[in-house]
Amino acid sequence: MPEDCVFCMIRDGEIPSDILHRDQYCFVIRDINPVAPTHLLVIPLEHFEYLAELVSDFDQTVAAMLSAARDMASAEGVSGSGYRLMLNQGRDGGQEVPHIHLHVMGGRHLGGFGIPSERTS
Ligand code: 5GP
Ligand code: ZN
Repeated sequence: MPEDCVFCMIRDGEIPSDILHRDQYCFVIRDINPVAPTHLLVIPLEHFEYLAELVSDFDQTVAAMLSAARDMASAEGVSGSGYRLMLNQGRDGGQEVPHIHLHVMGGRHLGGFGIPSERTS
């Protein structure tokens, strides 16, 4: 684990942050720069950057992350109106924080956000 990983530091309490949910595999925080009224990040406890690196406890980790996203969306009151899950991978995917995380966004109509408008290569 890189010593300067912001999500690992939040996980370990080195950066104060409101942890909305925590289980054996993942935890949930609010995005610091929300693009929607509800914008949460579901983050695995274990540090890894890419899905390809998730080898141990793959099924349990993915299930826990999706389950947390579903439950938190419900708790935020956006289950009925709908929400978007997004997982950015690598440079072309627009990933900024190299500790994998699932965005949960809702509370407004998101339109085409996150959908490429044109193919560039
Ligand atoms: P990515 O582009 O990697 O998929 O998304 C990274 C997300 O993490 C961004 O939406 C950004 O606002 C959020 N983020 C970056 N640093 C922090 C932080 O220190 N705390 C919280 N809560 N969110 C952060
Ligand atoms: Zn990390």
